[in-house]
Amino acid sequence: MRAIVLEGPRRAVLRDVPEPRRAVGEVLIAVQRAGICGSDVAVFRGDRPVEHPLVMGHEAVGRIADPGESEHTPGSRVVIEPNIPCRRCDVCRRGHGNVCPSKRSLGMNWPGVFADLIAVPSEFAHPLPDRIRLEDAVGIEPLAVAWHAVAAAQVTEGSRVALIGCGAEGLLLVQALVACGARVVAADLRAERLALARQLGAESTVHVSPGTRASVDARLVAPVVFEAAGAAAALELALNAAAPGGRIVALGLGASTANLMPLDFVRRGLTLIGSLIYDHPTDFQAAIDMVHRGDIQPAALVSQVIDKLEALPAMLSSLAAHDTDGKTVVDIRGQA
Ligand SMILES: [Zn+2]
Ligand SMILES: [Zn+2]
Repeated sequence: MRAIVLEGPRRAVLRDVPEPRRAVGEVLIAVQRAGICGSDVAVFRGDRPVEHPLVMGHEAVGRIADPGESEHTPGSRVVIEPNIPCRRCDVCRRGHGNVCPSKRSLGMNWPGVFADLIAVPSEFAHPLPDRIRLEDAVGIEPLAVAWHAVAAAQVTEGSRVALIGCGAEGLLLVQALVACGARVVAADLRAERLALARQLGAESTVHVSPGTRASVDARLVAPVVFEAAGAAAALELALNAAAPGGRIVALGLGASTANLMPLDFVRRGLTLIGSLIYDHPTDFQAAIDMVHRGDIQPAALVSQVIDKLEALPAMLSSLAAHDTDGKTVVDIRGQA
């Protein structure tokens, strides 16, 4: 089968690789659409260490090619939950499979979805209701990430919320927060992203400059602040923007050190939460339900569609070279 294999930093190539073998309890899926995530770009660049060669990609929808012993039917549509906790370790037993140190992560430490076929445990292939369009379905995985963070923040109807970082994940957060009835002020370095945030329902936006970390714009002060930019400076800004007694939920995977002054943090009685991916299977199910009800349309932030797998290496190079706005998706089979 065809797959996009990363052979080293910035060396992604289309290769013929053996088809995955379906283990007991697994289903085989023919991938239809895949999304490119910021973390795929980090892996491509070499900013996030992985073992090479690696079949990339983790956001995907497809059709069941071989249901094995499961209740899935051949040809039915599924969305893939690409992080598979071991369910045996102490962390998993405490209910934190999302941060299981032995989890299998497709496209990170396990063959990924930028391929014709993928095998996953049957319960990690979620049936897709007919009404959900492929364009929206491919956004369900990152939406589950956003939903996990919203739940961690305990956002309710009318909550005032600030969001730092309006990349694709941040924009999905805007949608999830607006769907919960929160009032969102969104901040980013790029005006184009702020325009998208407003289109998706943010009440107001703040155009920050790289030096904003210390002096917080008063409009950003809120009891709940999300950091979705993945930069140390953004986390510092989020810490400063939180109102006394507030919560900061960090999703960004910035790899440099952020400053936190204990005197300031403790005196303001802040809570800092790291929110990684999602809980199996609840957050995924919640994301599917939200899209099914029409509360959220992840397709609204798709800015580019590549119509064939062959074009993916060049697209990864281009995404690694300069910031884009919105989300890029790939039509793996070159058909609608
Ligand atoms: Zn992702
Ligand atoms: Zn585990």
